[in-house]
Amino acid sequence: MQEKYTDAKPTNSAKKGGEEVKILDGKSLALQIKEEIANEVRQLTADGHRAPHLAAIIVGNDGASQTYVASKEKSSHEVGFTSSVYRMSESTSEQQLLESIEFLNSDPDIDGFIVQLPLPKHIDEQKIINAISPNKDVDGFTPINVGRMVLGQECFVPATPMGICTLLKRNGIETEGKHCVVIGRSNIVGTPVANLLSRKGFDCTVTLCHSRTRNLAELTRQADILIVAIGKPEFVTADMVKPGAVVIDVGIHRIPDESKKSGYRIIGDVKHQEVDPLCSWVTPVPGGVGPLTIVSLLENTLLAYKRNNK
Ligand code: NAD
Repeated sequence: MQEKYTDAKPTNSAKKGGEEVKILDGKSLALQIKEEIANEVRQLTADGHRAPHLAAIIVGNDGASQTYVASKEKSSHEVGFTSSVYRMSESTSEQQLLESIEFLNSDPDIDGFIVQLPLPKHIDEQKIINAISPNKDVDGFTPINVGRMVLGQECFVPATPMGICTLLKRNGIETEGKHCVVIGRSNIVGTPVANLLSRKGFDCTVTLCHSRTRNLAELTRQADILIVAIGKPEFVTADMVKPGAVVIDVGIHRIPDESKKSGYRIIGDVKHQEVDPLCSWVTPVPGGVGPLTIVSLLENTLLAYKRNNK
């Protein structure tokens, strides 16, 4: 039996070409879930417990990474978590970073932490991820958590795939027996989301496409659910989408735009102008998958807090 979630109704929809296109509004859903987490934290602290604590390590001055960490910190505060950010210089050695990780691993007041990627070139990313305690690995990137996820065991699921699953579930989208095509096989998005959606509870038949896939459009046109995590601006066009499909756009790209105060606008991996009218459901960019990614990290932190304080 597939789980059905009917608590969150689609918060937005638009008539396009006579057909109803429903917007998978990640922004509203994220607010709703944050409120649920905040209520739980309020109850915990009212009962005399400490608040959950999420920490982040950031190495270097990469602009996008600074923005991501700042919004994780802001969201942590919004739900009442304690949050710490450890800022390390670009020249930090691998050994120094490993020592900081060891420090966070053994600090009983920190429930979960992330190491913001990418790391400077002289640091071996996998070695760093491997050093994170699986019990505090709220990004779900350590081999132990990835292995547990693949085996369907208790684990921390990576935030973006988890956010995609939440969007589907909380909007009551049927997945059982549906053909889901995923474009992109990265370790943080494509591969885990393909795994999760093929498992019991979602029960999709999944096709995982990547840079060596032949006849990509032929495959994507068969998708009832199309998940796009390719990292190429507006790659998916109308001729690649089956009418009535659910389209989840994971891509985030900053495009210069002088008409905007910020000087840029955000677009995704899907050409929304022409694809959206074909869809039954579609995620906007921005405001679709992105907000759910951060919320999933908060959910994992709350889970770590509960597991580590049993
Ligand atoms: P990545 O670059 O690690 O992986 C891209 C994948 O696309 C690769 O597996 C590659 O095989 C595949 N690919 C490349 N060219 C292809 C082609 N022509 N045909 C088929 N497959 C092809 O990307 P990623 O880290 O998974 O991120 C993808 C996008 O999602 C990026 O735009 C990224 O910024 C965005 N992202 C968004 C969030 C969020 O919270 N919304 C989170 C993570 C990533």
